[in-house]
Amino acid sequence: MLGCSFAQQPQPMGSLPEVALEKLSDRSFTALAMRALGVRGGEWRHAETEHFIYHFFDAPTAAAVSVEAEFAYRIIAQELGKDTAAWERKCHLFIFSDEADWAQFTKAGALEPWTGGIHSQGSLFVRRAAGLLSKNQTLPHEITHLVLERFFGAGVPLWLNEGFAEYAGSRCRASFYRARGYNEKPRASAVSAERYIPVAQLTAMAAYPADDTQVATFYNESEKLVRFLCATDKPSFLAFLDAMSKGARFDTALAKTFASRFPNVDALEKEFRPYAISQFVPSVR
Ligand SMILES: [Zn+2]
Repeated sequence: MLGCSFAQQPQPMGSLPEVALEKLSDRSFTALAMRALGVRGGEWRHAETEHFIYHFFDAPTAAAVSVEAEFAYRIIAQELGKDTAAWERKCHLFIFSDEADWAQFTKAGALEPWTGGIHSQGSLFVRRAAGLLSKNQTLPHEITHLVLERFFGAGVPLWLNEGFAEYAGSRCRASFYRARGYNEKPRASAVSAERYIPVAQLTAMAAYPADDTQVATFYNESEKLVRFLCATDKPSFLAFLDAMSKGARFDTALAKTFASRFPNVDALEKEFRPYAISQFVPSVR
């Protein structure tokens, strides 16, 4: 957990030399990236690391983000068993330090008001208050979306994309802080029994729920389902993810990759529901 003593500790920082806009190794911007650059036009500063090009206003924040971003990219690709060496194009990562700037950007981009970050067409946009430590897992969550799109394409269904981003984002954040000597464990909170969404319904959702409380349940339960399948059998989960990204239906992909354990969706639900609504992080047999 994040404690007070934790927040007072300095973060190890990498040095991040600034690069002029016209000297960046890649200056191809999506429409949304152009909108971001339009916020406080001309005041953006820029830098690069191995896999990312940063656009920012506050240099210490960007230096801290660059360390986290490279760490997350490596860990998440490993988690998915993917070699990132062949992907040469860098990802543009926009860091908004100011709330009013972020509000202007999300309004211009017609983004959901509850979002603290977005992955869109290979670019990342995050809101990060100036300062060295983030209090949430927005950055690794959005980097997970980036890695999923790079290595599995754009066909991963919504619940699986968000569920895996929550799962890998929290594991990544925990290992980032553990590597720096902090006692950090992935967090989990139970899905309330009244709000529980049946698996067949959850996995068929093509859009976020309209109701804000159900949005939280949707993310939480999707993360639980990913965690449950990974804990059951990681290689089967990766085969399942691959089948889903290529357009398989949930029941078909499940039968193909978890046949001996869950012959059908009902068999999965029977074990998953108690796991999802438990206050603890139960182990999977
Ligand atoms: Zn997401």
